[in-house]
Amino acid sequence: MALTGLSSADIENCRTAARNGTIHFPTGKVGFDADFPPLSKLEKGKCPKKPLLHQKGIPRFPTDLLELKKLWNVGRLFLKCACTGCEVNFTWLDHMLWYVIDNLDKLDPQAPSDKIKMVDFQALLRTSWRKPILAQVTFLFMREYMMKIVHLSTQTLL
Ligand SMILES: [Zn+2]
Repeated sequence: MALTGLSSADIENCRTAARNGTIHFPTGKVGFDADFPPLSKLEKGKCPKKPLLHQKGIPRFPTDLLELKKLWNVGRLFLKCACTGCEVNFTWLDHMLWYVIDNLDKLDPQAPSDKIKMVDFQALLRTSWRKPILAQVTFLFMREYMMKIVHLSTQTLL
């Protein structure tokens, strides 16, 4: 938690939010601007405009495989530009974070040292990215609960 500056109470609040099925960001077309870099800085061919953060909502009870696939991503966060014509141009937030951790130069190629790049990244995690990080942690607990349900259901079959 040192990297993000989250406290034990923050983590516990995320666990509670996951148990309650809390979605932090409004679902739909309106995204949250947390000052994420353009996806084109991270991946060739992506949109050069600044992406907005969105969060997968909770679908109705799955009636078919398509709905079930959506259920697996409940609460998952993703980045997507606001322009029309880029509908497939999104990136899962967790993928972006893992990539950036290993490629800090993508955030600020002008930073004079690796240490400063890490300090800049940490500052983002603790300020403008704080709410998205809390929602991401909540999503991880939601996944954990889903995995537990799967595990329990397989145990009862044995
Ligand atoms: Zn776009």
